[in-house]
Amino acid sequence: MMYGNDAVLAYWHCTSCDHTNSEIRVTCDLCGLARRHIEDPLIDIPHPPRFTHHPRFLLFCVWAGLGFVGLALLSKPAWRETLGIGAPFLILEMLAAYLSAADNVVAVIWDRWFNQIELEVPEKAATGKRFGAAIKLVPYRRIERIRISMCLIDRYFERPGSDQPSTRKVHRIACHELPVGRPLKGRREYVLRENFIAPFPITSHHDIGAEITASFLALFAWLIPSLGLMARNLREHGGYYLRVKIQVGLLSRTIERRVLVYHLGYDLFVG
Ligand SMILES: [Zn+2]
Repeated sequence: MMYGNDAVLAYWHCTSCDHTNSEIRVTCDLCGLARRHIEDPLIDIPHPPRFTHHPRFLLFCVWAGLGFVGLALLSKPAWRETLGIGAPFLILEMLAAYLSAADNVVAVIWDRWFNQIELEVPEKAATGKRFGAAIKLVPYRRIERIRISMCLIDRYFERPGSDQPSTRKVHRIACHELPVGRPLKGRREYVLRENFIAPFPITSHHDIGAEITASFLALFAWLIPSLGLMARNLREHGGYYLRVKIQVGLLSRTIERRVLVYHLGYDLFVG
């Protein structure tokens, strides 16, 4: 067995063939394995899904097609008259179609960038106590210009008077920009953590009107992914949430997980 000698001579050990290499070698003398593969190993994950093989690709085609049909009809007043469709309706239809197409494309792009994005949050936290949250990222490839922020927010309903409808409110309790620093390397696991203090659950977290709207929006979630997200947000509007916003270049993605906050004193308070 050889050992590095006083920084004049240093060695690194190849885990693949057991050979000991000089510090100056970037690959193993015996088997040719690169040193960085030993010190910074790649995770064994499949290849990113191909754009055309992604389930959202079909939805993108449908929406882009509908947008194109709208455009074609808009440019031919005679066709519009035959079908009895007005121009304002077509403009709205095109706008919805192109937005939905873009929505699906963005979803595919994210799935091609990241093998895994996971937010870990404790299910419950006691008022006044510190709790930790972690975001785990496994990119398929090198990701540059990434910014991640983590916020603890309170989504609640406020009723100004007993005869007035309640309004949805969002209050940011605490926000942190997570230190990503360098670009993320592909096929590595990154875990970023942050701590928060659980608040006292005093705001109202339920509203019947929001429940009904959410049920309606959820009907169309299979067509437009963002509607599903809206429905879920609405249904689960009330409560304390950990919201992580990941921004890569111009695209951003938000993930939320609820944390049940409780205080056990004279009574039990839950929010
Ligand atoms: Zn070797």
